[in-house]
Amino acid sequence: MSTPLQSAPGGRLTIDLAALAANWRTLAAISGPAETAAAVKADAYGLCVDVAVPTLLAAGCRTFFVALAAEGVRVRALAPAADIYVLGGYTGQTAPLYRAHRLRPVLGSPGEITDWLADGAGEPPALHIDSGINRLGLSLDEAQALAANPALVAALAPALVMSHFACADTPDHPLNAVQIARFAALRALFPGVPASLANSAGLAAFPESRHDLTRPGIALYGSDPLGGRIPVRPVVTLEARIIQVRDVAPGESVGYGAGFIAARPSRIAIVSVGYADGYPRILGVNGAFAAIEGRRIPLAGRVSMDLTALDVTDIPPSVATRGAYVELIGPTIPLDEIAARASTIPYEILTALGPRYERLTV
Ligand SMILES: *Cc1c(COP(=O)(O)O)cnc(C)c1O
Repeated sequence: MSTPLQSAPGGRLTIDLAALAANWRTLAAISGPAETAAAVKADAYGLCVDVAVPTLLAAGCRTFFVALAAEGVRVRALAPAADIYVLGGYTGQTAPLYRAHRLRPVLGSPGEITDWLADGAGEPPALHIDSGINRLGLSLDEAQALAANPALVAALAPALVMSHFACADTPDHPLNAVQIARFAALRALFPGVPASLANSAGLAAFPESRHDLTRPGIALYGSDPLGGRIPVRPVVTLEARIIQVRDVAPGESVGYGAGFIAARPSRIAIVSVGYADGYPRILGVNGAFAAIEGRRIPLAGRVSMDLTALDVTDIPPSVATRGAYVELIGPTIPLDEIAARASTIPYEILTALGPRYERLTV
């Protein structure tokens, strides 16, 4: 895939599909006998389901989790035989989508259970039970009341009983052990129903959380939430094109708020990616780096809406030249480094990458 120069956007986003497939296989190997699903909500964490889902299917993935029914519709078109679970709340409004596209709701409240049955049910649902995150899911009491009503459980015929970790990326947090113990007891209320608790961090950190199905997301897309324990390969490379290089005299400033002041005769490259493309504005305040040909270059001042300034004084002019591409995220500048510099998590960086990039796959 390539785009002619005259229509070329300011940046390009390259997805390494072989790395995505390899990461799924790595997580499947860690998951052992448990089945390994894939969380592909938010357009596969911003990578685009159209490329991610076929790749994951080819790697062997058979079960997908999305947030919204509309996302499930897109995944169904790509994966006719997969099990597709919709994590976001079930409402009667979306009932026709569930039926037409064979989506499985993740039911997490008595109201959702009542509505699902009243709407005529459909595919076997998942039961979501809260084990301590206090976000979605049946409470302990609600789960016990449901389990005490075998006719209701039989009418639901759940295919999965699941819960979600609050702190799996902090393995020492005491809430993890609490959730693992609570979930073990809760799933026992529904004998014979497969169980699922672990996300990426959970499946790697806590073998006892793997149960029958693991649900990794972020590690598939190249970030290790445990900071070095999961051997994932980077999947995303983000590059921006240099559109102008200028000389800046000592004492002159660069960009809004005069955030960078040249301490020496400087050369500043302007690239055409900014915070409107999901490249966080705060990176220019927090001393982030980009790279060119594997050499790190500091940001020079604040990121603008469509533009970012880089200090290329130490880079040969023949390298940092108009039309050249600069790495914003990639082999030299890891996704996790950018997330840390932006005081956020890689999930937010990936899902914020906007629609203006040329999107390539390798
Ligand atoms: C997003 C999500 C996952 C995947 O989590 P990662 O931390 O990205 O591995 C798993 N389960 C649920 C319920 C989720 O919402």
